[in-house]
Amino acid sequence: SSAIAKPIYFFDEADGKNRALLGGKGAGLAEMTKLGLPVPPGFIITTDICEKFYEAGKRLPDGLMDEVRKSVRRLESITGKKFGDAKNPLLVSVRSGAPVSMPGMMDTILNLGLNDQTVEGLAAQSGDARFALDAYRRFIQMFGKIVLGADDRQFEKALVGNGINNNSSDEKALRQVIASFRSLCEATGKRFPDDPYKQIELAIDAVFRSWTGKRAVEYRRQYGITPDMANGTAVTVVAMVFGNMGRDSATGVVFTRNPETGEKKLYGDYLVNAQGEDVVSGKANPSHIDQLESEMPQVFGQLSQVCQKLENHFRECQDVEFTVERGRLYILQTRTAKMSAGASVKTSVDMYHEGLINKVEALQRIDPEGLEQILYPRIDSHVKQKPVATGVAASPGAASGIAVFDVAKAEAMGKRGEKVILIREDTKPDDVPAFFQSVGILTTRGGKTSHAAVVARGMGKPCVVGCSQIEIDPEGASFSVAGRVAVSEGQKITIDGSTGRVYTVEVPTVAPEITSEFKEILQWSAEMKAIRIRANADTPESATLARKYGAEGIGLCRTERMFNQHDRIALFTKMVMAETEQEREKALAELERLQKSDFKAIFKEMQGLPVTIRLLDPPLHEFLPKEEDLMMQIFELKSEGGHKAESEMLKREKMLRRVRELSEINPMLGHRGVRVGITFPEIYEMQIRAVCEAAADLTKEGVKVESQIMVPQVATVNELATVRHMFESVKRDAEHRHKIKLKIVFGSMIEVVRSCLVADEIAHVADFLSFGTNDLTQATFSFSREDAEGKFLPFYLEKGVIAVNPFQSIDQKGVGRLMKMTIEMARKVKKDMEIGICGEHGGDPKSIEFCTAIGLDYVSASSHRIPIAILAAAQSAI
Ligand code: PEP
Ligand code: MG
Repeated sequence: SSAIAKPIYFFDEADGKNRALLGGKGAGLAEMTKLGLPVPPGFIITTDICEKFYEAGKRLPDGLMDEVRKSVRRLESITGKKFGDAKNPLLVSVRSGAPVSMPGMMDTILNLGLNDQTVEGLAAQSGDARFALDAYRRFIQMFGKIVLGADDRQFEKALVGNGINNNSSDEKALRQVIASFRSLCEATGKRFPDDPYKQIELAIDAVFRSWTGKRAVEYRRQYGITPDMANGTAVTVVAMVFGNMGRDSATGVVFTRNPETGEKKLYGDYLVNAQGEDVVSGKANPSHIDQLESEMPQVFGQLSQVCQKLENHFRECQDVEFTVERGRLYILQTRTAKMSAGASVKTSVDMYHEGLINKVEALQRIDPEGLEQILYPRIDSHVKQKPVATGVAASPGAASGIAVFDVAKAEAMGKRGEKVILIREDTKPDDVPAFFQSVGILTTRGGKTSHAAVVARGMGKPCVVGCSQIEIDPEGASFSVAGRVAVSEGQKITIDGSTGRVYTVEVPTVAPEITSEFKEILQWSAEMKAIRIRANADTPESATLARKYGAEGIGLCRTERMFNQHDRIALFTKMVMAETEQEREKALAELERLQKSDFKAIFKEMQGLPVTIRLLDPPLHEFLPKEEDLMMQIFELKSEGGHKAESEMLKREKMLRRVRELSEINPMLGHRGVRVGITFPEIYEMQIRAVCEAAADLTKEGVKVESQIMVPQVATVNELATVRHMFESVKRDAEHRHKIKLKIVFGSMIEVVRSCLVADEIAHVADFLSFGTNDLTQATFSFSREDAEGKFLPFYLEKGVIAVNPFQSIDQKGVGRLMKMTIEMARKVKKDMEIGICGEHGGDPKSIEFCTAIGLDYVSASSHRIPIAILAAAQSAI
């Protein structure tokens, strides 16, 4: 076989920059060792070995254990302790650590090296039998669960059965627990190994295996972590230090800045006399890090210095695990902190001003998609609703949903598209699949760094933890507050992850405010981006929001959406249902009045920035009454009898006839868009006139207007030419009437495959083009945009038949190719032709990158995604 690369590195000999080889945890420990920080000694088994492990069919490579033995011996000589020694035992932790952070998704074993003999040594060494026994029972439990596959719940039961809690000092009870734990291990049919070398071998094997465990695989899939980013985990073996050696010992997690708000102040929590897992699992309620300053002032001072050093070195906020063993501080891990979007924005801007990073670095570290988090609604502060309980605010944003206590149920309901709030006492990594499917998470135990808090924050989901006023009933079907049932499963609740409040009703929310740091980021992005950003907006309110966020125009105003509100639907339906031109003219006159005033409001709001009005593209089926409903009504009126019912019935019958006339088997491929405009020219004429009139009025008032009119569903140049003719004549009329010249340009949507194929012809008739990638994707794949995402697409995505949802991110190979071809053909006809995109993809960061690359002039995204689009555009340009 080929020469084996060095399989193991000690912290002080490794290159801390090589995360691919050492994993994030190992690299961090190596780097901290180099910085002279108080890191316990240890070594790293590389990710190469993990790959070899899998190549060999999940077997540790030959010779590895010899290297491990050598390394343990070196660890013995550094620490002055001995592995397996009954008097002065060396204990180690065996931890996972992939090149890409996957917090809590893989396995870790602490206190390894304990057995019935060494535990007595540990007791003598520490002078604390209780501590030693407690460490031992924790080890058996972890080892039993992870390596031997014992059922964790049985251990928990045995603990409760023996009356043990985290600070139990009853030796006898602990010995009983250890005995029952060992028999729980034996019950798996596998032997619990007393030999520490056997223990470490099995632990290394288990950590490697956890790389392909269900949790880890699901996590990588959700976050798009591909093999080229991380192809295995490293294993770090570290000499144990103990945070549970008495009142002068502690363990905790500290963030160098507040990961929720970004405030430059240490943030986190710790527990005195405890081991790391107690903090992370959220099983106990820890103290805030501020308290450490009075409780252990020296340690606090040292910890603050360490944090400062780490930030200066890594130039990113760090999430640091520490342990205090009898007054001595040890740093066990550092990694880039996962932060809320708001904190990510604030710390990036702050670090720029502190001179730690430049603007480009600042922009690159903000996830555009994550910005949605700060753009999320919050609970309206004017609402007088009283919370039923208040827990710890762990991940910002407010969410309402159905209370669900069961993980599997939450996962299933979420997958069905229901809005679910997952409620648990605490959570474990196994619960993460349900997190993805929930709109919010609520726990009754744990602090800001508990599992639930960290995971929810990473996902940008609202989360409240440690809500101890809430008591979940034993059946897990309701929760009580102060002894009274407050919420039963299935009921709606609201949680506010920014304040920690929990409400037993659906509470109204308001749009969030924009911080000065956020504005600064948008400002920098606007300077750096290489593509213009417009908004899809159909109402003056939406236009206002778009402007506020920095949109440079409106790229799509869907005129049919302007009728979606309240009283207008009836009028619109009347127009659609009209059987004669006369009837239609009447309805149209009223609509024209409404449209004109809407257009005026939008033009005014946009103050001379381009506004693209799309002529009607009515999905008729959305506006028509349902055939069944009409038939039911007719039936009821018939049985009612009488004069009034009779005339009502005749009306409905007429309506039914019309609905049947208009009904189509395939409405999305039916009588819509330009086809309606050509068959009922009075509709498009009305709309064009409304645009012209609005523009004329405003121009006379001295308001600048730059409007564009575009035609949907164009497949042939003749369709476009027909509408253009209409447009010119209506415009000429208006100019004549108002005695002014109107600057309105005329263009075509490109959303039908044929229009791509004849883009040169179309370019002769159009002043500009705009890709409607929603329909273009539907047409290119022949996937119904209405149904695909609810039917087979999820399956396709899960099975990897399709890598990304093409309705979310542009399919570059297929749809993208059509786009490139179209651009090339069109610009051959008109060199500087303006071409943009107004499908939903215009707000998707990956698609924005693509649109920048293929030379589009602008992307148009829905108003609330404008900041995301601006940042993504900047990132594509740098
Ligand atoms: C499109 O098809 O991409 C588009 C913008 O139009 P709509 O979504 O209204 O069909
Ligand atoms: Mg369309």
